[in-house]
Amino acid sequence: MSSKPMNFKLLIDGSMIDGVATVDIINPADESVIAQSPVGDEALLNRAVEAARRAQPAWAATPLAERGDCLRQLGVAVAEQEAEIAQLLTLEVGRPLPLAHYEAQLVQKSCAFYSEQRLDMEVLHEDEAMTVTLLRVPLGVVAAILPWNAPLYLAINKLAPAVLAGNTIVLKPAPTSPLATLKLGELVRDIFPPGVVNIITDRNELGAALVNHPAVNKVAFTGSTVTGQKILESAAKSMKKVTLELSGNDAAILLPDVDVAAIAPAIIFGAFFNSGQICAVIKRLYVHEAIYEQVCEALAAGLSQAVMGNGMDPDVMFGPIQNAAQFEKVKGFLEEARQTGKIVCGGEVPPGKGYFVTPTLVRDISDGSRLVDEEPFGPILPIIKYRDIDDAVARANASSFGLGASVWSADTALAEQVAARLEAGTVWVNQHCAIDPSIPFPTSKKSGMGVEAGRAGLLEYTNLKVVNVKK
Ligand code: NAD
Repeated sequence: MSSKPMNFKLLIDGSMIDGVATVDIINPADESVIAQSPVGDEALLNRAVEAARRAQPAWAATPLAERGDCLRQLGVAVAEQEAEIAQLLTLEVGRPLPLAHYEAQLVQKSCAFYSEQRLDMEVLHEDEAMTVTLLRVPLGVVAAILPWNAPLYLAINKLAPAVLAGNTIVLKPAPTSPLATLKLGELVRDIFPPGVVNIITDRNELGAALVNHPAVNKVAFTGSTVTGQKILESAAKSMKKVTLELSGNDAAILLPDVDVAAIAPAIIFGAFFNSGQICAVIKRLYVHEAIYEQVCEALAAGLSQAVMGNGMDPDVMFGPIQNAAQFEKVKGFLEEARQTGKIVCGGEVPPGKGYFVTPTLVRDISDGSRLVDEEPFGPILPIIKYRDIDDAVARANASSFGLGASVWSADTALAEQVAARLEAGTVWVNQHCAIDPSIPFPTSKKSGMGVEAGRAGLLEYTNLKVVNVKK
């Protein structure tokens, strides 16, 4: 990153503007101030929504291929700025730099994928008496509200399908990780007509006003189930459409025939990616009793090699917890886990600056303890013993969450049979958290409503419209 001071602005109606105040954005690796972010207020929020409302009819009338071309250009611009964007993501989220590049590359893939989608009309019926056609029309103004853990990927998976379908959008990043999204705003400004994409930031107080704004037609939200429930309640009053991508408590089931040594690195990745701060990482590991000891040992050995630290350092595999509030929450889970299970490795909070918890395995723990039943959203994995596969499936399904799950076995056909019985939006076999913007990411139970990513994610930003012509 260049040594010139970083300067961030809101994007409203095609202009980069100051907020009403600034807040310090903290680097979670050392608690230093990375930059000042502008913050908006309700007046600026209203300006952003009004700009989106004014721009929407002309944008919807722009040929879809041209809208797609803007997205293609945005993907190219992100590729050109990938180094700076990845560094911003590492600084504000704490994730190791190679994983920040991975997020920036997923953003490019998302732009490329949606830029090529089409929404052709379909003739349902045609004869001498009548023609019936089915169209996909835009919804209007979309409010996109984001969490702090994967800010840019979650932003683009809303922005790209929304604008391709002819909607305009107001994005609100999380208060502690707005910088990469504001940087994206600079790129957007040079490509899209004014008002099509707007970015407003806050201190955690503008989300409700955005959801309640009468000119907003749809809310696309990623975040906690608690906030998602509030959004659903307020959206009901004005009958806004909603897509909710919420909390998860993914179970992974290891069948007794797995090659433990071979899969251990993939389990570690699947559970501790982004230090466990991903909605769909493994949060409960169900292991057959025949391999329980071996699995605990192999995972502990793998984690003993792991380097934790500042994501800018080249050898670091695990970064910090992203913010102080989440750090406190994770420490609370850790303390309780000491009482309800046995720490195999990790479990430390190193002294000094930075929100670090060492990657932790907890064994001899079972359903009914908070670490198993709830989402810690940090680097702590409970390892639960099972004897009977039906029992493991029943325990995995007993959760009120249903985002992802996985089954691991040398026998892929058997694993697929078990996968079919698991209640989750995505079930992986012999992998976990393999995501791609072209593949739908559905939700179930209290993990959300609707679907993001893939073609199904695009259709969420459209209404069906039938035109029925009597000849
Ligand atoms: P959060 O719910 O606290 O906040 C998310 C966003 O909502 C922030 O931008 C916040 O400012 C805003 N917000 C807060 N109160 C609001 C209100 N009343 N109305 C509207 N908006 C409001 O979530 P978080 O702590 O930032 O993120 C962590 C959670 O997100 C975890 O539970 C994780 O599982 C979940 N998550 C889910 C997915 C998914 O795809 N399902 C992806 C990433 C994260």
